Amino acid sequence: MKNLTSWIYIDLDALSYNIKVIKDFIGTTKMLAVVKADAYGHGIIPVALTALDSGADYIGVSDVDEAILLRKSGIKAPILVFNTILPEHAEKAVKFNLTITVCSLDVVQALHEAAKRLNTTALVHIKVDTGFGRFGILPEHALGFVKIVYSDFKAVYVEGIYTHFSSPSSSNITWNQFNKFNDITNQIREAGFIIPLRHACNSTAAVQYPKMHLDMVRIGNLMYGLCSSGNLNLKKLARVFSKIIFIKNLPAGHNVGYGNKYATKRSTTIAVIPFGYYEGLGLIVSQPSGLMDALKILLKQLMYSFGVTNPDRKVVIKNRMFNIIGKIGMQNCMIDITDFRDDISVGDYVEISTRKVNLCYSLPRVYHRGNEIFVDTRQCMTYLDMHNQYIYDKGSEQSIG
Ligand SMILES: *Cc1c(COP(=O)(O)O)cnc(C)c1O
Repeated sequence: MKNLTSWIYIDLDALSYNIKVIKDFIGTTKMLAVVKADAYGHGIIPVALTALDSGADYIGVSDVDEAILLRKSGIKAPILVFNTILPEHAEKAVKFNLTITVCSLDVVQALHEAAKRLNTTALVHIKVDTGFGRFGILPEHALGFVKIVYSDFKAVYVEGIYTHFSSPSSSNITWNQFNKFNDITNQIREAGFIIPLRHACNSTAAVQYPKMHLDMVRIGNLMYGLCSSGNLNLKKLARVFSKIIFIKNLPAGHNVGYGNKYATKRSTTIAVIPFGYYEGLGLIVSQPSGLMDALKILLKQLMYSFGVTNPDRKVVIKNRMFNIIGKIGMQNCMIDITDFRDDISVGDYVEISTRKVNLCYSLPRVYHRGNEIFVDTRQCMTYLDMHNQYIYDKGSEQSIG
């Protein structure tokens, strides 16, 4: 990666592989690939295109704009928008043939009217709130809702009905939600309304409760290799790299970084990489959820201050582990390379553990697919421009992966 100093390497072949494994596992159930939030940081367009090529049946996003972006990139597959929309967005939702999550009659009416104006049909999935407490109609109102939609809004086609689990790792809570959902969808069927796509599972639920797959599963984390996949053995797609831009020797007892929190214990060689908390390094997302959690965090910090190395401050250079020392800066940090100073030079690659790196939006994405490598520099104003301006870059002087 000649021109880049920091980047995220994304293996689209691993995505294809993961999707094939997931599809084998779910059998005849359809798979919706969740690409909201810029495909969990992996880049919405390349991920959506690869997911569809690899056999995903449906695409899922949070809002209408993400969906339109995909349409403008030539994606014709069905796209479900998870968030409900404002009535004023109905027109563009219908124009771009999006499937909208509905849980209020205002939105159903707006979609119906837009569809009539455009001489077409509006696609919707009805959401049932079986316990999440966010979008959705409560189960006791669902049948009444369906009846009204079918009788009063003929330009709306109810293609699906779904619910979302609040705690998929808890089997009690999840079975309880699932049973409520199953009861209500059965009642709806018995009342004569045939809704073809019933779905409930996200990644964790799909892995843990095969009996809940129904007609479709909505897969995010799992296809990115970001959650436990049981014995499916899925691959992580993203690896984060930076490059050493400066090396120097410091005497023993010298400060390293802001706040004078770290002093060298011996004569030390440091390497600087242009990668800091702006790029997502060292950001701790977790908030203690109780006393035990807070104690755990405190204990860890204590251990680190007594010299145990924080696993989140390790990086890899030429297959060896090194420690980040001193406080992480906004866009830089320092690595202690003393033990292997003769093997390491300016320009060498540094791999940063993605476990604690948020995939910073503005870092360039380097995609690998088949024998292609292409770079999304993220310098352009819109996704669409970016998509059209992928720089084809086959020559990279150090191999990655
Ligand atoms: C984000 C999301 C998913 C995917 O969740 P994962 O845990 O990443 O699989 C599924 N359904 C809905 C409604 C979501 O918002």
